[in-house]
Amino acid sequence: MSLTQHIELPNGVKYDQPLGLYINGKFVPGVEGKTFEVINPATEKVTCSVHEATEKDVDIAVKAARAAFTSGPWPEMAPADRGCLLNKLADLMERDMHKIASVESLDNGKSVTLSKIDVVNAIGCLRYYAGWADKVHGKVIDTKPGTVNFTRNEPIGVCGQIIPWNFPLLMWAWKIGPAIATGNTVVLKTAEQTPLSALVVSELITEAGFPPGVINIISGFGRVAGAAISNHMDVDKVAFTGSTLVGRTILKAAADSNLKKVTLELGGKSPNIIFKDADIDKAIEWANMGIFFNHGQCCCAGSRIYVQEDIYDEFVEKFKQRIAKNVVGDPFDDKTFQGPQVSQLQFDRIMSYIEHGKAEGAKVEIGGQRKGDVGYFIEPTIFSNVKTDMKIMQEEIFGPVASIAKFKDVDEIVEIGNATTYGLAAAVHTKDINTAFDVANRLKAGTVWVNCYNMLSSAIPFGGFKESGLGRELGKAALANYTQIKSVHINIGGHD
Ligand code: NAD
Repeated sequence: MSLTQHIELPNGVKYDQPLGLYINGKFVPGVEGKTFEVINPATEKVTCSVHEATEKDVDIAVKAARAAFTSGPWPEMAPADRGCLLNKLADLMERDMHKIASVESLDNGKSVTLSKIDVVNAIGCLRYYAGWADKVHGKVIDTKPGTVNFTRNEPIGVCGQIIPWNFPLLMWAWKIGPAIATGNTVVLKTAEQTPLSALVVSELITEAGFPPGVINIISGFGRVAGAAISNHMDVDKVAFTGSTLVGRTILKAAADSNLKKVTLELGGKSPNIIFKDADIDKAIEWANMGIFFNHGQCCCAGSRIYVQEDIYDEFVEKFKQRIAKNVVGDPFDDKTFQGPQVSQLQFDRIMSYIEHGKAEGAKVEIGGQRKGDVGYFIEPTIFSNVKTDMKIMQEEIFGPVASIAKFKDVDEIVEIGNATTYGLAAAVHTKDINTAFDVANRLKAGTVWVNCYNMLSSAIPFGGFKESGLGRELGKAALANYTQIKSVHINIGGHD
């Protein structure tokens, strides 16, 4: 099969889509000659086929990454120059923003407007970590006379990175940025549903001037290429974003192989709590962003909405009216807020949760059906009167489905909010600063938003309590995941 395919998009973008595995600075076919189809979720038609990485390709990519880590220009490069390369890559992405965002929409189904926000944030993330490249320092530590002791923050080595399909390019940036700034090399596997934008950006990695082998991007399936990365004896670290189920598998694979370092960013069932004194119209806007942004396909989605009983009926009625205005449709239409779900599998999973909700007796306030008969479109759906033990209140649906329930007071909502195995995010809407601080402090979540939702910054750590993950991405905190501390003790006399 060819290594490129010419593609013309509905918005006039025409480009040659790379299809190969990006290994050692070049696009190559997989050694076993396997390929897989990439489906456009809006039309259910095949966009193209890409080359599939198997265990042997992972091995070749790991060898390239090891060689680049060990010798040649990369280990010799001044940290500031690594930052320059990241900045150069960010500049090239900015130049090609419209094309990259259009490819993301084709592949993932999110609207081009949302894809552009993802690309802007991905660029911002690269620039943020470019700034850190020459600022990761060790410490001099005084112990006793006649010694000098210091620490070095050294790169870990070859990093395997496995990313999901909900924010293909943004997750790519969250992984690449800190790994490269700190001098590691990477083998990144994209999700099998959305390999295209990372391949387009791989061309820019070459154009930016990264030495071959420093960044390797492969397309492939989790149980084949993903498992090969997490089991590999020469991968020093694996960073994963995806389901809690697969996160456990990766942790086990690390334990059973070479005890590679592991960071995990997993699922959630985040509570979005609205107190009676909140600005109700603003809370509704944030609740909409919390659950319906990105078609509900967010690990931190505010999928459990709890409203204080005094304003419950008013909130449900107004929320329903607001959601009716969300435009569901063609990702290439500027008015679209919600496109199709990413795949048939995700569509079926979500529809099955909706059927469960109906069968368990929750009230459908709006939605609850497929939208249209082509593409994986689902009507934005609100369930009210959802009981704590219902499946739709317990499990991550990862779709445009909000579950609403009422609560009485602070103590009750803290208990309900924390009654989950997850702990990724939470939000509180109130005008009372004491309530805001009290509830924010007592919720067991890695991120708590007050009077907002889904506000993220490259500078602020993101990650989960409990079964939502291990380690933190973004901010200075992420640098610790990609460096290891070496302590050097020097005897300068008197200790012979
Ligand atoms: P997944 O966890 O199976 O896939 C995520 C990534 O892991 C993909 O790149 C996949 O190829 C890879 N993978 C799968 N199995 C693997 C294995 N055994 N070893 C190594 N890598 C493996 O997610 P999914 O099946 O696409 O979605 C299922 C559910 O996961 C969703 O409904 C949602 O609840 C959750 N999810 C969460 C996130 C998140 O951002 N936290 C992202 C995607 C999906």
